[in-house]
Amino acid sequence: MTTGAGGDVPALAEAAAVLAAEAARFASFGWMRGTSGNLSVVTGRDPLRLAVTASGIDKGELTAADVVLVDGDGTAVRGGRPSAEAALHARVVRLTGAGAVVHVHTVASVAMARRRPAGVVLRGLEMLKGLGLPADGPAVVLPVIANSQDMRVLGDRLAAAREPDVPAVVVAGHGLYVWGADPREARHRTEVVEWLLELALLEPPDPDGGR
Ligand SMILES: [Zn+2]
Repeated sequence: MTTGAGGDVPALAEAAAVLAAEAARFASFGWMRGTSGNLSVVTGRDPLRLAVTASGIDKGELTAADVVLVDGDGTAVRGGRPSAEAALHARVVRLTGAGAVVHVHTVASVAMARRRPAGVVLRGLEMLKGLGLPADGPAVVLPVIANSQDMRVLGDRLAAAREPDVPAVVVAGHGLYVWGADPREARHRTEVVEWLLELALLEPPDPDGGR
């Protein structure tokens, strides 16, 4: 990946091409049904700039032209109308230092948030290595936060609930946010988190509905 001005980030055109390819892949998984979900990649750190998928586009048909450049508040600085959730992508980047953010509406994330509104406990799974965690380490919690249509409220909830070692948060009744150093790492982590959620969904719910 070539670097843009100001750091180890892709130029906008390259970022847009990457996001189009990533969107097609996630759409093929069935994780971006309709026009749901959105993806972003950092293209500048000072000032913060993100390339974000445009609003209302079928992610299986998204092209590099359907990518918008936004600032650190998620406001468009070039291109059309960004996803309504661009502000949350920018907030995740500011909070975590991530280089890419994936947001998908998967069935498993919504189903598990209903079953585990206080968070999904994960332990004893080889797949945890895919998140940089030990397979046999202590239990970790994948946080679950309540949904909101106000991106500032949602960002505050994410900031309060996130676990430093877990690069993902589930939004109840909504979907999944996952981040990584670059689009490839964010995608790999998304695949791992979704696998963990799909497995958890296969396990019988506790009778008391707790963790
Ligand atoms: Zn969403």
